[in-house]
Amino acid sequence: MALEFNPIQKKWRKELRRVALVYPNRYRGGIANIGLQQIYCEINALDNFVCERFYSDVFNGFRSVESATPINEFDIALFSLQYEQDYSKAVEIAKKFKGLKIAGGPCVMENPVPLKNFFDFFFIGEIEACNVEEILECDKTDIKGMFTGEESMVKRVKPLKLEKHLEYQIIGNGAYGRCVLLEIGRGCKRRCRFCIVRQIYSPVRWRNSENIVEVAKNNRKKVEKAALIAPSPTDHPKFKEILQNLIELGFKVSPSSLRADMVDEELVELLNKAGLKSLTLAPEAGSERMREIVNKGISEEDVINAVSLFSGKFKKIKLYFMIGLPFEGYDDLKAIVELAKKVKKYINRVTLSINPLVPKPHTPFQWLPFDVEELKVKADFLRKELRRANIKAEISKIEEFAIQTALSRGDEKIGRLLSKSRIKVGDIKDYLSEIPVDSELPWDFIDHGYKKERLIKEYEHLYSVE
Ligand code: SF4
Repeated sequence: MALEFNPIQKKWRKELRRVALVYPNRYRGGIANIGLQQIYCEINALDNFVCERFYSDVFNGFRSVESATPINEFDIALFSLQYEQDYSKAVEIAKKFKGLKIAGGPCVMENPVPLKNFFDFFFIGEIEACNVEEILECDKTDIKGMFTGEESMVKRVKPLKLEKHLEYQIIGNGAYGRCVLLEIGRGCKRRCRFCIVRQIYSPVRWRNSENIVEVAKNNRKKVEKAALIAPSPTDHPKFKEILQNLIELGFKVSPSSLRADMVDEELVELLNKAGLKSLTLAPEAGSERMREIVNKGISEEDVINAVSLFSGKFKKIKLYFMIGLPFEGYDDLKAIVELAKKVKKYINRVTLSINPLVPKPHTPFQWLPFDVEELKVKADFLRKELRRANIKAEISKIEEFAIQTALSRGDEKIGRLLSKSRIKVGDIKDYLSEIPVDSELPWDFIDHGYKKERLIKEYEHLYSVE
């Protein structure tokens, strides 16, 4: 962990209750998470509590960053669960911790059932929408958004409008580099069928552009770089204006992602001035047919138009694709290679990142099978074709995504495997098959405000048009 600016060193008094904020993955990801920074600041602003951070690569997750205090000297531990692959580490820490254990984050909003036996409470909602003190004082009484494992229905706490951005933040060397994190929006107006963001963070909300620029300005002396964070940042109605203002303040800026259909000459000019080095676009699929199936709303023309505008100004680009989409054939896989070849004509250094589709709870794809063997064959096919075309590709390990699928769609039984040192695909086969649409699902008890019938309709519609 490199040097960081601004960590809070609260003066110790013995009446203070200690809260451990646990991110069961590397420091790099944890420090780049603005939600965690928000909780950290809110707790430390309370008179009766002090909060310190834990990361899996700092003292193996068992001592705090601030004071190297062992976790068992804390009264409460708040776990932030962002990815299914963090469950094993979270469980390892939770099993050794004797105090009150509360978990939150996107995985909890998705489906906390596999983790039911390792935590006292789960919080289903966004941090700004809750009273943190009420949660820390909580003794399993009636708190909105709390799941203790007993409730038959839990409504996600109603999300609030995004008010003022967090002013104070720790500046560390995180996933976006050493920078000020600017969360410009939450939720997404798009309707990609594989994506859980549109469901668990709805409705889409944007932060005031002047407030964003003000926060950046106040941090300018500490850093030269700003990260603009949102599920789809270029959809912010004043995205270019924010970018322009940050450039004028002398910032290098990197947005968390770009949408090909939002790229025009003006944006390319701004990104160039903002010192952006590497571009990423997510066509998700190679063929128009597959992109329609996932409802990405981006055409090949959009991708080619974007890269033609980038050409000459940017030297490298990364393209994200998924495999294992419904009705996908080998022609659709070849279309990935063909699209990459076309992009290469404009930008020579093209890298592909290829991941299998994880059918996520709360999405219209939640019932889909995850076929490990078929995916391995498809991944090998792509590996060969891309090698032949001289295109660099990072193809994820299919087994890892199978485990992610099983944990995200899992029940209490699969939770038992989390105590094992390693989960094998053979242990989780039952969780990878297609799920009948009329089945009761472990996560049905969470009310995110959508109607399940709508997801069924969308899922069945796919099969009727094919
Ligand atoms: S994949 Fe991106 S654009 Fe599509 S719904 Fe999710 S966040 Fe929005």
